[in-house]
Amino acid sequence: KRILIVGGVAGGASAAARARRLNEEAEIVVFERGEFVSFANCGLPYHIGGDIPGRDALLLQTPQSFKRRFNVDVRIFHEVIEIDKAGKNLLVRNLQNGEVLREPYDTLLLSPGAAPIRPPFPGIDSPGVHTLRNIPDMDRILAALEQGKPRHVTVVGGGFIGLEMMEALHQRKLEVTLLELSDQVMAPVDREMANMLHARIREEGVDLRLRTGLSAIESLDVLADPAAVTAERRGGLRLTLSDGTHLDTGLLILAIGVKPETQLAAQAGLELGPRGGIKVDAGMRTSDPFIYAVGDAVEETDFVTGESVLIPLAGPANRQGRIAADNMLGRRETYKKTQGTAICKLFDLAVASTGLNEKRLVQLGLPFEKAYVHPGSHAGYYPGAHPVSLKLLFAPDGKIYGAQAIGKDGVDKRIDVLAVAQRAGLTVFDLQDLELTYAPPFGSAKDVINMAGFVAS
Ligand code: FAD
Repeated sequence: KRILIVGGVAGGASAAARARRLNEEAEIVVFERGEFVSFANCGLPYHIGGDIPGRDALLLQTPQSFKRRFNVDVRIFHEVIEIDKAGKNLLVRNLQNGEVLREPYDTLLLSPGAAPIRPPFPGIDSPGVHTLRNIPDMDRILAALEQGKPRHVTVVGGGFIGLEMMEALHQRKLEVTLLELSDQVMAPVDREMANMLHARIREEGVDLRLRTGLSAIESLDVLADPAAVTAERRGGLRLTLSDGTHLDTGLLILAIGVKPETQLAAQAGLELGPRGGIKVDAGMRTSDPFIYAVGDAVEETDFVTGESVLIPLAGPANRQGRIAADNMLGRRETYKKTQGTAICKLFDLAVASTGLNEKRLVQLGLPFEKAYVHPGSHAGYYPGAHPVSLKLLFAPDGKIYGAQAIGKDGVDKRIDVLAVAQRAGLTVFDLQDLELTYAPPFGSAKDVINMAGFVAS
């Protein structure tokens, strides 16, 4: 059996490792167009900010270690350019020598991920405009920071990557402007929760501009009289913002979202879903019975509403990779929908959420109730307790729709408990009965979750 995998990072690498564990004989080949496989994309902002000092820590596996540990043949710098599903083979270009090879498969797995969105703004291709997806992107940003020595940088987009990059650049002692088109950062939480984040961002001296987008980018080198371009402004950019004002900046990070990489799948005639991702069934099979797809490129089913959604997160990509490998090798496993459970660090705060938020419930017209609690992360008499601000959304019959929390400590634990409760079908009335760990340094005899249950009941 010959299993070919397109994409060697989260979904692709998980699938390759799992496939080998299930089957010792199969020939497993991973094609990755980049130089790196199985790298820690989630760690990229933390290396830029300095929290992860060594670049090597981000490189989790190499083609050699994959061969040694799993007997998987990983071909880096190999881009799959066409799928012939009738003939069950791929066209693969070796990016180092230009050679194009035909590679037959019995089963194919697509895990090509999602690409950062780069809208066709005037000037989008100017040097100094960066996105962050992989190690080379990170290296380019670091080189630009080290060589250009900008004093001021601009981040566009207040989502996970935008916030992480804002913090990383702030940590490098740069002046940072954060532009966000909507009226709040961190779209998964509701506005009143995000306001706590806005206050924290501004407290750090970051120039946060809400309801402000980017309309055009010009290179200052081209604009200005060369004699007048000081060393400081060389390589800089002049941004035109949606409010008509200009902003001069040394470097721009665009973090306004990602779009699934579906060109290969679309060209092969695989069915796409309503959101533009690859359509798969619960076994991660595409519209072709010999082709599976996982990760950021596929549409998933929302845990609460059953709608098709795009939720580009590492946990789902890894689990789907494993499930696809199971099914490719004859097991019967299903992926059980996505809650979108996520967390982000923002200076000394954490913001986390799971399930639906109030904005979405209102859009869907679902009747709902909500409860807010702000208890301490652990017993108040033990030093170091901080409030956990938690918002719980639920149906009149107690079904948990979603939860969001912000605080300095214990946010991950509370959202994780609620994510489990939601998945297990518990109601808000069950929360008061949950028996959670307690000693003064860790929690309270009545935990934040119990308190939320009391308020909701
Ligand atoms: P990827 O991991 O993107 O892998 C796809 C690979 O396929 C790429 O390396 C690409 O080069 C390759 N490829 C594509 N097309 C071809 C082709 N035709 N031929 C050969 N190779 C191809 N998620 C979280 O849950 N938590 C986090 O904290 C978090 N932080 C993140 C921070 C950053 C900066 C980024 C960029 C992402 C972060 N994510 C996080 C998201 C997470 O990394 C993704 O959800 C996950 O990597 C998706 O896995 P994937 O396998 O679908 O795609």
